[in-house]
Amino acid sequence: MVLALLLARQGVNVTLLEAHHDFDRDFRGDTIHPATLEALDQLGLADRLLQIPHGKLEAMQFSSNGVITTVAQFRRLKTRFPYIMILPQSKFLDFLAEEARRYPPFKLVFGANVQRLIQEDGTTRGVRYRGADDAWHEVRAPLTVGADGRFSKIRSLSGAVPVKSSPPMDVLWFRLPRNPEDPRDQITFYVGGGLFIFLLDRGDEWQVGYALTKGSFSETKTAGLDNLKSNLSHQVPWITDRTDTLQDWKQIVALSVESSRVPQWYQPGLLLIGDAAHVMSPVGGVGINYAIQDAIEAANQLAEPLKAGQVTTAQLAAVQNRREFPIRVIQRFQGFVQDRVVRTALDRDRPFQLPLAARILLRIPILRDIPARLIAFGIRRSRIRM
Ligand SMILES: Cc1cc2nc3c(=O)[nH]c(=O)nc-3n(C[C@H](O)[C@H](O)[C@H](O)COP(=O)(O)OP(=O)(O)OC[C@H]3O[C@@H](n4cnc5c(N)ncnc54)[C@H](O)[C@@H]3O)c2cc1C
Repeated sequence: MVLALLLARQGVNVTLLEAHHDFDRDFRGDTIHPATLEALDQLGLADRLLQIPHGKLEAMQFSSNGVITTVAQFRRLKTRFPYIMILPQSKFLDFLAEEARRYPPFKLVFGANVQRLIQEDGTTRGVRYRGADDAWHEVRAPLTVGADGRFSKIRSLSGAVPVKSSPPMDVLWFRLPRNPEDPRDQITFYVGGGLFIFLLDRGDEWQVGYALTKGSFSETKTAGLDNLKSNLSHQVPWITDRTDTLQDWKQIVALSVESSRVPQWYQPGLLLIGDAAHVMSPVGGVGINYAIQDAIEAANQLAEPLKAGQVTTAQLAAVQNRREFPIRVIQRFQGFVQDRVVRTALDRDRPFQLPLAARILLRIPILRDIPARLIAFGIRRSRIRM
């Protein structure tokens, strides 16, 4: 959506195909990071977006045996937006779509399930999709962008094979009611004793993530919902009065967490961005921001060639060249956290402690904001070429 908006405002014809019939659904993550807010500010959109009722995340912290450690303090960052905005992604996408519709070259087709690539002479020339009318349709274009997420159809049709970059795990994903007197504006990870649970403030409710070692969901289910609720109460005592709202496993989604990236994001006429190019783990909640940064870089590199009607593979390679290093760094960081923090926390027999390197880093004033900066901006912030 961000790439479509950026290209359309520069006069490039864009057809955005979305398999769903609207944006009205639950997404994996509702976070809008400082880097994204700064980019929207460049477009003059940030203040308008901030008028939509939203939550604000000012800190990320760990709680273990009652001891709280702040691992990322966004308030100290030097930016107009020293927080992560929490807004249902459906509202964010509606906002962006409304803005993009102001530009005549933008076209959004809902219910368009892309199923085939049109390939001629070794070059992708567009796609075929099944529409809401169940008929086949075709879109031809000088460039096809696969921004279709972790299970990308475009990626698999292109033959690109992702390489895993961190150990897999599972997360149980559910909501609990929020009371007015609950802690505000933060995400807290409650860890230790075999449990890793996080609560994200969504304004009117809590988004709960309950991490599991890969493949242990059926064991957790067999242990029963009461066992899960008692673990929640044990780890987060103040939430106990609401755990009874969990009545059925249907309220809980088991999400598979993976992290991977494809070695080459492009082929003649085709580019992968976002999770299609690099599946992001939920650690740090950065996947949306990194996908948006890819979109900004793609628009910066490709708007002019697209206006001229032709994109070379060297120009597509330039997008990957700019984005690959930041992605590698954040995925390495996420792998470290999954391996050294989440796995240790899930081990019942080991007392939980943050890794020594992290404890030292967080004590040194000039270094302690590195995690916050990495989460808020990544290591290279792409600015929109205006
Ligand atoms: C448990 C979990 C929690 C997470 N929490 C966060 C978080 O808090 N913050 C954060 O920033 N990131 C989070 N992430 C990561 C984040 O979800 C992704 O990195 C991000 O959504 C990637 O954006 P994207 O635009 O590339 O893909 P997506 O957001 O997956 O969007 C892809 C779009 O393509 C459409 N599509 C798919 N196939 C087709 C097709 N064949 N035809 C047409 N359309 C199609 C889909 O309907 C969808 O709208 C989390 C991930 C997990 C697993």
